[in-house]
Amino acid sequence: MQNGKFKSELIAPCGMNCGICKGYIALTHGVPRVRGKVSYCAGCKPRAKNCYIKRNCKKLTHHEVKFCYECVNMPCKNLDHLDTRYREHYGMSTVENLKMLKANGMVEFLKNQADQHSCPNCGDVVCVHDGKCYGCGYVKPKTGFDCTVKL
Ligand SMILES: [Zn+2]
Repeated sequence: MQNGKFKSELIAPCGMNCGICKGYIALTHGVPRVRGKVSYCAGCKPRAKNCYIKRNCKKLTHHEVKFCYECVNMPCKNLDHLDTRYREHYGMSTVENLKMLKANGMVEFLKNQADQHSCPNCGDVVCVHDGKCYGCGYVKPKTGFDCTVKL
């Protein structure tokens, strides 16, 4: 299933869209690797490696659930930690992604991701980690990018 550059196989169990991750964009756009800064990743599912969320969850490692929203305990401690980090640093919530995915299904979710993360100039993907489009060099304005709310 896909909507332009946004594909269901790139949606990780935790709600992360690997298609907007710098590691995936770097790999698919030939961005040079830089130790500690730019590494390559084919995406959580295609790579089939256990991150700390999968590693610490029996339901995921035993394939009892595909996405964390299927779990009654969502968000668990690990997912909450990831979600907080993403909300604070990158203005994105994996838990909100999961809720939307559960409520609206994959087709609508991918449409929403395309709306949120497509480059207004060239239609390529804008990286969630640095706000850049590696297709044309567009940089997302900081104001819309940092939506951290401190209560
Ligand atoms: Zn662009």
